[in-house]
Formats: sequence, structure tokens, C-alpha cells
Amino acid sequence: MKLKIAIQKSGRLSEDSLRLLKECGIDLSNGGNKLKSTSSNFPLEVYFLRDDDIPQYVEDAVADIGIVGENVVYEKQKDVQVLEQLGFGKCRLSLAVGRNDEYSRAALQGKRIATSYPVILQQFLDRENITAEIHEISGSVEIAPGIGLAEAICDLVSSGSTLLTNGLKEAETILHSQAVLIRHNQLGAEKMAILEQLLFRLRSVRQARNNKYILLNAPNDKLDQIIGLLPGMKSPTVLPLATSGWSSVHSVIDENDFWNIIQQLKAAGAQGILVVPIEKMIL
Ligand code: ATP
Ligand code: ZN
Repeated sequence: MKLKIAIQKSGRLSEDSLRLLKECGIDLSNGGNKLKSTSSNFPLEVYFLRDDDIPQYVEDAVADIGIVGENVVYEKQKDVQVLEQLGFGKCRLSLAVGRNDEYSRAALQGKRIATSYPVILQQFLDRENITAEIHEISGSVEIAPGIGLAEAICDLVSSGSTLLTNGLKEAETILHSQAVLIRHNQLGAEKMAILEQLLFRLRSVRQARNNKYILLNAPNDKLDQIIGLLPGMKSPTVLPLATSGWSSVHSVIDENDFWNIIQQLKAAGAQGILVVPIEKMIL
């Protein structure tokens, strides 16, 4: 029995999806141009598909699980379960208007908005009691205002440079999105067991990525204060240094607290601070 996973064949999510599987120790005979690849060391079969089709395939159990942007999951409204955010493919779905236009929600009333995300946009408009005309187009939405097709657009943005080069400005974000793992609603016991194993590995990889291993030297009279700054998995490891009156302290810190904590550690008298990445982290 193998678990079937659908990932994007070629596009913004492909590389990161494959890398994540690799970091989970799953070997794949290099796919890319193929439709399908089977792992030699984990019961997983990978299908390479267009991202838009992945929710449907997972609903239909053609694939058991899939990796796709939340934007696609919410737009397609298929009967699938979202299991886990994966931390890549981050973008936002935003409304944009002409660079010189003044924006307000009320000003959208009666306007034409071009988008590839009519479902998500309609939900936003309904919530805000705005009646606008949605023009669904499948690609190059950003050119719609320039050719007179719409007054506003609703499109995916990451840096905003595409908007700028088309004379548009981002006016309001209606959805923040990232890649997620989705699953078919009913999986048999055997497939569930494989999925549990995969999730365990995924979480260990993701945990590790969000944490750093930190080593530092501390004068013994400052140890309490320094340890107080380091949460650690349980509590920090403290080892005596050859130089008397000094200790080596080891711990794990959150990537997000990193710069903040480093400053405080230095101020408290820590020296020789080393920060190293963690490859896997099992909680
Ligand atoms: P496919 O051929 O598979 O249909 P696509 O052209 O629809 O590909 P991509 O442009 O590769 O899709 O984007 C895939 C996903 O990457 C998007 O659905 C979104 O979740 C995410 N993404 C991240 N940043 C951006 C961005 N700046 N623009 C568009 N999508 C982005
Ligand atoms: Zn697509």
C-alpha cells in the first residue's frame, strides 16, 4: 500500500514541495517531466499536476493528499481537509487599483473587478455589502485596468512589483495564503498510518527550521540571569569550562526571538555566542 501525494508539476510551489519531501528523508527518482514518481524508501507515490487541479483530485481520491496554496483550496471549495500549513509559497490576495486612484471599499460599489479568484472575491464583497461586477480572467489579470476591462483587480501579490510595472497599487489584502497539506476526507487505516508517519517527519523538519541551537560562554555569577533568557526544550545544558569561573551554556531558541535574545544575552555578559541551524527536531 502506498500513499499518493499530488504536488505542483512546475511552478512556484514545485521546488519547495520536492525539497520538503527530501528533507523528510523521502527519496524520489527525479521526476519533473514525468506524471508520477515512486519513492524507493517510503511508501509514497508522487503525482505531478497543475495546482488548480489538486483539490479536485484529492476530493476524488485520485490522490490521497496534496500540497497546494490556501488560495486555491478556498477558491475551489472542494470537500477536502486542510491538515497543516507548510511555511512556503507565501503570498496575499489583494485588491489593486490605478496608482492615482483613491481607494475605499465604498468606492468599489458598481465597479468592475477583474480576478482569477471569483469565489473568494465574492465572499469578501458580500461580507462588506459591496455590489460589484466580477470579471473572471485566468491569467495576466494585472493588465485588465490598462485595457479598459476593469477599474480594479484582485490578484496574488508577493513583492508588488508586477502591480507597479502595470501602473497599479495594492489597496487592500483580502487573504493571506501559503502552501498547505490537504487530505481526502476518508482514508483507510493503512493510509492513515503512512500519513501519520509523514506528518511526524514534516513537523520535525518544520520545528527544526523555526529553531536554532545556541552555545555560549557565561561567567558563573551571571548564569542565573542568562539561563533566565533561554527557554530551551526543557532547560538549558550547563557545562563547566576549563577556565574556572566560566560555563558553557547550550539551548534551543525560537527563530523569531533570535535577535532580541542575542542582544539581551550579550548585555548580560555572555561571550563567544554560536548559533547553528538544527536539521531535525523531535518533540
Ligand atoms: P499551474 O501551471 O500549476 O496552474 P500557476 O501558474 O497557476 O501554475 P504559480 O504561479 O506557479 O501557479 O503559483 C502557484 C501558487 O504559488 C499560487 O497558487 C500561490 O499559492 C503561490 N504563490 C506564491 N507567491 C505568488 C505570487 N507572487 N504570485 C502568484 N502565486 C504565488
Ligand atoms: Zn494554476
